[in-house]
Amino acid sequence: APADGVAGRIKDTVRADIRGLAAYPVAHAEGCIKLDAMECPYELPEAVRDDIARAVRDTPLNRYPSADLSALEAAVKTAFGVPDAADVLFGNGSDELIHLMVQACCNPGDVVLSPWPSFVYFDMAARFDHARFVGVPLTADLSLDLPAMLAAIREHQPKLVFLATPNNPTGGLWSAQDVNAIIQAAPGLVVIDEAYQPFADYTWMPQVLDAPNVVVMRTVSKIGLAGLRFGYLAGHPAWIAELNKVRPPYNLNVLTQATLLAVLRHKSVLDEQAARLRADREPLAAALAQLPGVRVFPSAANFVLARFSGKLDGNAVHLALKARKILIRNFSNAHPLLADCLRISVGTPAENAALLSALQEILSA
Ligand code: PMP
Repeated sequence: APADGVAGRIKDTVRADIRGLAAYPVAHAEGCIKLDAMECPYELPEAVRDDIARAVRDTPLNRYPSADLSALEAAVKTAFGVPDAADVLFGNGSDELIHLMVQACCNPGDVVLSPWPSFVYFDMAARFDHARFVGVPLTADLSLDLPAMLAAIREHQPKLVFLATPNNPTGGLWSAQDVNAIIQAAPGLVVIDEAYQPFADYTWMPQVLDAPNVVVMRTVSKIGLAGLRFGYLAGHPAWIAELNKVRPPYNLNVLTQATLLAVLRHKSVLDEQAARLRADREPLAAALAQLPGVRVFPSAANFVLARFSGKLDGNAVHLALKARKILIRNFSNAHPLLADCLRISVGTPAENAALLSALQEILSA
């Protein structure tokens, strides 16, 4: 007989592994300095917002999004340097694209592999879609362990390898030689996740067609448009055609499409914002490194990872900042390699200064 009550029915119905999970954590941020999610702290300029308002006003909402995305595809390819011969696939955030790749490629139990720690959603999406996630530990100084990666690829024959470069939450950029070695060793698809590429000196985009098993994934979330939910995948047209088969109908809503088209007419604004954050990263990292007991890891992204091993540990510093209404992300309990590590997004100069003076106070109390 069916179980009594909601709790009983849930227990009999929802997968046990899902019941054991917590939902993706998003902190409440009202009234806080928000340095926890690698957002761009700058609002778009008035002229761009006016353009968006006009574009949105003229967008019909009564119809489903058009099947013809060619205008947006052309604009995205031009704006972000996608090779002419490559195709693009759009997602409701790159989070959705991660799912599509697992769905399209993995039978139950197939392996999805990534250096670890990296973006948690690689692991979550793999599990949701019945794949097996293998995280290959970084070295103690949080760089890529190439021999371990190659050994794990040989052992597990992963369908998918996710390489976030620069990596989240560590900030490191993986060397081109290491990534090439992984591409050559991987039997399946290698996804180069360039979410933080706008803050780094290197991109795989021009080479996306050079190997038979590579796609490059990007997002606009870190360059000023996190609220839009838009990510894209660039790759060989044949790969994109396969992945497109599992895309949910009309996944990209008309408001996102219209807004993005309008914003891309002002692409230089996004570039300038990214350049400002990038320029502010080094002074922030240097100031953090001056604090007692703080180690800062090298970052090519719009955030820095810092280890707090002075009088206060990572958890205590996180709490003390929270009490001062400064939100950063605490990784202290996430993985042994990240013991006492906090991830701090680069904010406005005023926000960075507020963070530093709060930390000075907290660490000298
Ligand atoms: N990849 C990496 C490495 C990330 O850190 C993030 C966001 N934290 C994403 C992808 C997802 O970005 P979005 O879904 O906002 O495009």
